[in-house]
Amino acid sequence: MNYSDAERVQTVLNDLGYKQTQQESQADLIVVLACSVRQKAVDRIHGRANRWNKVKKKRSLITLLTGCLLKTDRKLFDKSFDHIFPITELKLLPQLLNKNRTKNNKALSSDLDNYFDIKPQYNSKFQAFIPISRGCNKHCSYCAVPLTRGKEVSRPPNDIIKEVRQLIKNGYKEITLVGQNVNSYGWDFQGVAINFPQRKVYYHDKDKRVTASKLTVKNPMNFPQLLNKIENIPGKFWIRFITSHPYDMSDELINVIAQSKKITSHINLPVQSGSDKILQSMNRQYAVKHFKDLITKIRKHIPNAVISTDFIVGFCGETRKDFKDSCQLVKELKFDMAFISQYSTRPGTPAANLKDNVSIKEKRLRDQKLTEILSQGSQENNNKLINTEQTVLFEKCSKGYCDGKTYGLKNIRVKSDKDITGLFATVKVTSATAWSLKGALKKRSSPSKQ
Ligand code: SAM
Ligand code: SF4
Repeated sequence: MNYSDAERVQTVLNDLGYKQTQQESQADLIVVLACSVRQKAVDRIHGRANRWNKVKKKRSLITLLTGCLLKTDRKLFDKSFDHIFPITELKLLPQLLNKNRTKNNKALSSDLDNYFDIKPQYNSKFQAFIPISRGCNKHCSYCAVPLTRGKEVSRPPNDIIKEVRQLIKNGYKEITLVGQNVNSYGWDFQGVAINFPQRKVYYHDKDKRVTASKLTVKNPMNFPQLLNKIENIPGKFWIRFITSHPYDMSDELINVIAQSKKITSHINLPVQSGSDKILQSMNRQYAVKHFKDLITKIRKHIPNAVISTDFIVGFCGETRKDFKDSCQLVKELKFDMAFISQYSTRPGTPAANLKDNVSIKEKRLRDQKLTEILSQGSQENNNKLINTEQTVLFEKCSKGYCDGKTYGLKNIRVKSDKDITGLFATVKVTSATAWSLKGALKKRSSPSKQ
C-alpha cells in the first residue's frame, strides 16, 4: 500500500516540477511514507529525521511525513518534520508547499478526498500495484492500521477497471490488487450482498459494515465480481492480490480463482496464531478449525495453490503451549512462505492494555523456531516442483542471470545471455531450496495456468 501511495506522491511532486533523485544528498525535498505496524519502522524514521535536521542547518531541505502514523507518533514527529499530512489529503500537498498550481498550470482538483484518482507514476513498466480499498474494519487487537488508515472504504469498481485497462493497453504483465482486506471489497456499496453461510458455525457476525450506511457507486460489485471483470479484459497478463482475511474468504472467491486463467495461484492468508485462545485475544474472529477447513477447501478446488501466511510470535499471554500450537499448525499445513513478526505493542490499540509478557529474547527464539519449521515444509513443497515446467515473469537480469517469479510467486533464477526483464518464459525447474528455485529457460511463452 505504501509503495502504491509513494507512486501517487511522485505524480504530485512531478506535476509541481520536482525531479526524482536516487541520491539523498542531492534531494531538496524528502517525503517519508511511514509504517506503524511495528515500533522498529517508526524508530528508523526518528533516526533519519535527526540526520536530516542536521543537514537542514547547512543547506535548505524540506522534509514531509505521511503514510501510516499513530496519534502519539504524530506528536513526537511534529518538531522533526516540516509538515505532516494524512495521505488521504495528498491533493493538498501543493498548498502545503505554497504552490497552488501545477507546472502545467492546472488548478488543484476540488475532489480532495479521493486521492486514488491521482494517476500514479508507476515505477515499473510491466508490474503495477492497484489499491482497491483503504482502511480496515477488522480491529485486530494488536494492529495499528484501523487507527492510522481509518474505516474501510472501497474504491469505485469503474475507476479500478479503467486503471487496469489502461495498464494492459500499455503492455503491463502483472496487476496486483491491494487492500488490507481485499475479501471485503465492495461490502460498503449499496446493492452488494454479503452472503456467508459458513460463518455462523464459528462466530457471530460482529461486523458493523452490514448495518452501516452504504456508498452509492456505478456498477457496485464484490471482490470475486471485480476479479471476474478484470479477468475478462483482453490481453496476456497475471492478476495477483493481497491481503485476504480468512474470516471473509468466500466460496464464491475460491471458485473464481479456481476457474480463472489469469488470477495466479498464490494466496496470502494470514493466520497469526495456531492457538484459539490467542486468536480470540487478537480478535481475529475465527478459530483454528475454520482456518484449517478453509485451507483444505482451497487446496481441493485450486490444486496448484501456493499458500503463504502471517504469524505473530510472542503476543501478550502466548504460553509455550500456545506457541507449540502455532508450530503444529505450520507443520501440518506446510505453508510455502510466512511473514513472521515478533509482537510489538502499538499505543492506542486494545492489546496495548494487555501485558506484553513474552521477553524479547523469547520472541526472537520463537521467531527462529517457527522459521525453521516453516522452511522444512516449504523445502518439501519446492522439491515437488523439480523437473516441472513453470511460466515465469522475469523481473531483473544482471551478469548473465535473470530472476523472476513463477505463477505461484516462487522466486526463480535462470542463466540467460539476453535481458528478458518484463517477459514471460517457460522454465524447467532444476533445483530447489526452501525459499527459491533454479531452472533452465525453455522458450518465450504466454501466461497460462501451471
Ligand atoms: N491486513 C493484513 C492481515 O489481515 O493480516 C495484514 C496487515 S498488517 C499491516 C501485516 C502484518 O503485520 C500482520 O499480518 C501481522 O502479522 C503483522 N502485525 C500487525 N501488527 C503487529 C504488531 N503490533 N506486532 C507485530 N506484528 C504485527
Ligand atoms: Fe490489521 Fe487485522 Fe486489518 Fe489486517 S485485518 S489490517 S491485521 S486490523
